[in-house]
Amino acid sequence: MALIVQKFGGTSVGTPERLRSVADRIARARAAGHRLVVVVSAMGHTTDELIELAQKVSQDPPRREMDMLLTAGERISMALLSMALVDRGVDALSFTGSQSGIITDESHRRARIKRILGDRVRAAIADHRVAIVAGFQGVSEKKEITTLGRGGSDTTAVALAAALGADLCEIYTDVDGVYSADPRVVPQAKLWRTISHDLMVEMATRGAGVLHPRSVEFAKRYKVPLCVRNSLNENEGTTVVTENNQETGMEDFKITGVTADSARVLVTVNLARPTVANSVCDRAAEAHLSMLALTFSGGRLQFFAEREAEMEWRKHLQDLAAHGFLESFEFHSDLVPLSVIGDRFSQDGAALSRVIETLAQCHISVTMGSTSALALTVAVPMTHADDGVKAIHARFF
Ligand code: ADP
Ligand code: ASP
Ligand code: MG
Repeated sequence: MALIVQKFGGTSVGTPERLRSVADRIARARAAGHRLVVVVSAMGHTTDELIELAQKVSQDPPRREMDMLLTAGERISMALLSMALVDRGVDALSFTGSQSGIITDESHRRARIKRILGDRVRAAIADHRVAIVAGFQGVSEKKEITTLGRGGSDTTAVALAAALGADLCEIYTDVDGVYSADPRVVPQAKLWRTISHDLMVEMATRGAGVLHPRSVEFAKRYKVPLCVRNSLNENEGTTVVTENNQETGMEDFKITGVTADSARVLVTVNLARPTVANSVCDRAAEAHLSMLALTFSGGRLQFFAEREAEMEWRKHLQDLAAHGFLESFEFHSDLVPLSVIGDRFSQDGAALSRVIETLAQCHISVTMGSTSALALTVAVPMTHADDGVKAIHARFF
């Protein structure tokens, strides 16, 4: 009798019909004898709608209140799913993140999980019940409600699986698994049977929204068997594995994927002097603000920030400028990261050269780029990002 954590994303629970079909799937897994913990996201676009609602009443909503608001989304779906299960004769009980003992730090909207108590979840399983847990949320030591960042329900699921010592964590979504590019942008994208933790982290960090990057880090660190599957069919999906044993996509590089991320924006910071670069990085680290594809040269820092955090970034950068650390900064709201993920980029300039050449053939100009061992990222105009992904995918696969 395996203990399985199953997570169902927003589209999988987007309507009452979808919720009922998720309940049917859970009932089948129960009938097969498995013990189950189910993590749910908010229904459909609920989280986006709640954010829009907040923006209609406040220009700069307090982060604490945003967390109070946004956690309501998952609370709705957990209760509805539990009802649908009870209706099917499956004994189920729903819990908020706080009731599940998901203890996080204090950082509202970008909280990190510190530990999971999970007593009530364990008790429910011991009582032969299906425990339904609201994704994406936790509680700080000061009893403040927090959220884990957009897409964070995946991380709730894997962290719970680690804490409970589950045999498997299944992420159910609206596509068949992890592809070499977003299948909505590149219909010919290749579905991977397996993908390594390291390459999956790179894909997720650089815009492959199918998994939350921190969920993959958790899976790697705590050795949680993790797979991504379609909630609408019985296909096998993609398993995230330790070793990279992927088929190659191209003659010499092993390309895993191509991503673009319109949820990020390029930021340029002109420092007062090169020695104060750490002032910006320290602020970002304290506030858990990510700096994707950071480059630093001649007193200038460039990186991709999360678009949603622009207001917060601006406050930090204005403050640093007022203290004499910066001369100026700029948000290039039209420039987004386009990345190619795969093995051995840092050792071979040819990959970057081919990316720039392919983009140039589509009249897409590249203004900055950076490479690391597993990925290369360039800045492209947002309106051309999808065309760029299509062209690069066609060239490399
Ligand atoms: P959920 O609500 O289930 O969490 P998400 O929207 O967060 O779903 O993630 C699933 C979506 O991720 C897919 O619909 C797909 O469009 C998108 N996606 C982006 N890149 C990839 C990729 N490389 N492989 C699979 N899906 C991807
Ligand atoms: N509902 C949250 C979001 O839309 C969390 C999640 O779906 O994972 O970001
Ligand atoms: Mg998601």
